[in-house]
Amino acid sequence: MIITIDGYAGGGKSTVAKQLARALGYAYFDTGAMYRSLTWFLLNNKIDLENDALLEKALEEFHFYARQKRDGQIHFFVGSQEVTEEIRKPKITELVSPLSARPLIRKKLLPLQRDFASGNHVVFEGRDMGSVVFPGADVKFFLTADIAVRAHRRLKELQEKFPEKAKSFSLPEVQKEIEERDLRDEKRKTSPLVCPKDAIVVDTSHLSIDEVTALLLSHIKTKRAHQFPKMKPFYRCVLFLAHLVFRILYRYRVYGLEHFNPGGALLAANHVSNYDPIAISIGCPEEVQFVAKESLFSRSFFRYVLSQLNAHPISGSASDKATFRKILDLLKSGKKVLVFPEGSRSFTEEIGAILPGIGLFSFLTKSAIIPVYVHGTHPVWNRARKLPKPFGKVVCVFGSPILPFAYSGMHKKEAIQELSERLFLSLKELQTWVLKGCIGTPP
Ligand code: C5P
Repeated sequence: MIITIDGYAGGGKSTVAKQLARALGYAYFDTGAMYRSLTWFLLNNKIDLENDALLEKALEEFHFYARQKRDGQIHFFVGSQEVTEEIRKPKITELVSPLSARPLIRKKLLPLQRDFASGNHVVFEGRDMGSVVFPGADVKFFLTADIAVRAHRRLKELQEKFPEKAKSFSLPEVQKEIEERDLRDEKRKTSPLVCPKDAIVVDTSHLSIDEVTALLLSHIKTKRAHQFPKMKPFYRCVLFLAHLVFRILYRYRVYGLEHFNPGGALLAANHVSNYDPIAISIGCPEEVQFVAKESLFSRSFFRYVLSQLNAHPISGSASDKATFRKILDLLKSGKKVLVFPEGSRSFTEEIGAILPGIGLFSFLTKSAIIPVYVHGTHPVWNRARKLPKPFGKVVCVFGSPILPFAYSGMHKKEAIQELSERLFLSLKELQTWVLKGCIGTPP
């Protein structure tokens, strides 16, 4: 799902876009930071900006990526150099607007922005996101605010980022800078700043950041609910019955559905019981695919039922060539695939080491990984028990997705390692959240 937020400087786009992305478990792409990074790169390499041939050559050397670190902060890189702080300096702010009006520059950056959309649910923030880069975006917003309010916000931001330098800035100066920049962005010929026809316009002058975020969220949630594919009737009936049984016998509860987005993703869960696939499937708003031992498919009745429930037979482990391909194909076709990254059912409730395959699936298909923690199935039906206990308490929690955004710019091996570590930490966090009583939004 692509969300675009456009608007004037200081309208609150960045803060709201970041908050919105966090609430939805989406990636966040600040295209202003990309234009700023390019400005930094050209300045740093002392490129003659008036010479189109030299500029074009320099653009070929520009490699930009944004990566979300484990602390949730977004860091910007040009090549291997981090530029997160540098690009906010006043010198860059002064030069970025005239530079970004150049068609040559926009031609270079547009495909990079579109590339980022693949495999990610993204909140894109900029000036031409809804009008030029993603005219078919799922939801478009345009944020406005009084010029005085915007100037005030910008001054505050500068004072926080550069306390020493900001002593020399005055409110009228900042206001003038913003007005000039907005005017230049509106008047340029290529991709000018405009409000897309189908955008939802929000005046943020008298709203707090939380109020704006809540307003935007309400629009997106309505749209998102209609995007989950419909379940097959048989699948829906079985799930309904299983849900009912789990509600009655096991006081079943599901949390974190706000992290569950339409489209292909890996559901990566801890595994202690034969009940786990059921406890997870009944909590999902769309059908789940999973792999099951081939021997279960030997009788035609079971084969029919299992295939209707999206079980795919495997002869060995997920690392078998055929199974591996099957999972890749399912992900590529936009399905949710349930995997147990610890390998087999654990004897204890301790989260075990994560196998590297999960990271590889994500890396190859650019799919998000949704960590899922199931609690309470161990006491009712663990590996030592032949049959399940009739009563208990089962909880299923969907954690914040781990997006390809977490490893952009990394090589395969490094990315897989990063994903395994993040998944392990995330499952541990979800476990702690459950043990502390499931209060608030799951991490
Ligand atoms: O959003 P921010 O203030 O960081 O953007 C810096 C500048 O980058 C803008 O004033 C605008 O000139 C340019 N920009 C653009 N198109 C975008 C995003 C930013 O031209 N999509």
